[in-house]
Amino acid sequence: MFERIAIVGVGFMGGSFALSVKSVLPCQIFGVDINPQALERAKGLKVIHEGSTNIKELRSFKPNLVVLATPVRTFESIAKSLKEGCLSEETIITDLGSVKGYLVYTMESILGSRFVGGHPIAGTEKSGVENSVDGLFKGKRTILTPTQRTERDALEKVKKLWELIGSKVEFMDPFLHDVVFGAVSHLPHAVAFALIDTLLLLTKRTGIDLFQYPGAGFKDFTRIAASDPIMWRDIFLENRENILEAIDCYSSSLRRLRELISEKKVEELTQYLKEARENRLRIE
Ligand code: NAD
Repeated sequence: MFERIAIVGVGFMGGSFALSVKSVLPCQIFGVDINPQALERAKGLKVIHEGSTNIKELRSFKPNLVVLATPVRTFESIAKSLKEGCLSEETIITDLGSVKGYLVYTMESILGSRFVGGHPIAGTEKSGVENSVDGLFKGKRTILTPTQRTERDALEKVKKLWELIGSKVEFMDPFLHDVVFGAVSHLPHAVAFALIDTLLLLTKRTGIDLFQYPGAGFKDFTRIAASDPIMWRDIFLENRENILEAIDCYSSSLRRLRELISEKKVEELTQYLKEARENRLRIE
């Protein structure tokens, strides 16, 4: 199917993808990363066969699939570099990025109809190739975001590859993707980062080191605030409109909760909490 695969960004996701593909498909994997240590580690861990900090070296590797696994705001410049002689007519390009929307159309305008937008719904707060997991995508959903222009043959091949590594593929419009994941993934990350910031503010205000006291609830809730800051900066900026709307909605819900507590509205407060609990229990 794909004998020569290039991974641009050999971190947690790129590494996990490489390991997963290698275990189901005989192929050569070439890694590109701006960080030479990431490449050395990736080679040592047998995640990639060879690698370079210079993307132009893909010219001689001649990949039939290129997978972008860098922070999303690097995609455009990487696509422009790829366009300068690293791709053949047959090369398919896809990505693992958390934002689609306009970015998919930008990528398509540079790379053409053999670009297939993708977002695996799997991951952790950990980053770096040393945390890569073989089998990360097994049983997990992967969203592919084809457009009117996407070549059906390229889409079918990328879909087959995800299925081969055990993922359940779902197609979604690129803009719908950003509304959905702005709400269920990007907002919770924003809230977790803000909650840690709030604890810092309260620590300063009270003079008590509140970070000494968190229990299991706080740790569960804020686990994702340990995620990579560059990756999340890029996601927030790239999906700005949807995140702003989600934050506004969250702020108004928090204001409502504040009002119910402040005015001691026992019935309504109970109802607010009951409804939230019931809806949480509906999630599998
Ligand atoms: P990571 O920090 O572990 O890896 C990113 C790698 O990209 C690093 O090795 C870094 O050196 C390299 N890099 C950065 N800029 C580069 C450039 N211009 N050229 C070449 N290499 C560059 O991050 P990650 O968690 O693997 O995330 C990668 C992508 O996957 C992001 O787009 C993210 O939105 C997406 N994603 C992450 C998760 C998750 O849970 N971590 C889940 C779904 C999607």
